[in-house]
Amino acid sequence: MSDCLFCKIIAGQIPGNLVHQDETMIAFKDINPQAPLHVLIVPRRHIPTLNDLSVEDDALVGSMFRRAAAIAREHGYDERGYRTVFNTNPEAGQTVFHIHLHLLAGRGLEWPPG
Ligand code: AMP
Ligand code: ZN
Repeated sequence: MSDCLFCKIIAGQIPGNLVHQDETMIAFKDINPQAPLHVLIVPRRHIPTLNDLSVEDDALVGSMFRRAAAIAREHGYDERGYRTVFNTNPEAGQTVFHIHLHLLAGRGLEWPPG
């Protein structure tokens, strides 16, 4: 997807502050952090929204959550707590249409979310 921001970061055409990369996903710092730790976990494959997932993606999504937990642990937030969020479509605030798991930690996070 030549016009996708996150595909461009994955391709190295736009810089990203990477904290992890492997054969299926990358993780990088959010450019507009909403918490002291705000990382986006992004599959290398272009998938626009959660509505586009199929059963073949179950392992991918599971590994994205396990990576979020690993990054939270590496930063010392595993016991304090952290939040993992997928925003889907405009009313939920999705602005980049390449799925990404937000990892937020380092401050008290309100519930219900805004
Ligand atoms: P969402 O609103 O759920 O689609 O999340 C998109 C996220 O991407 C937002 O939190 C943005 O701050 C973040 N973002 C946008 N551009 C960049 C970029 N170039 N590098 C890192 N994060 C970005
Ligand atoms: Zn993409």
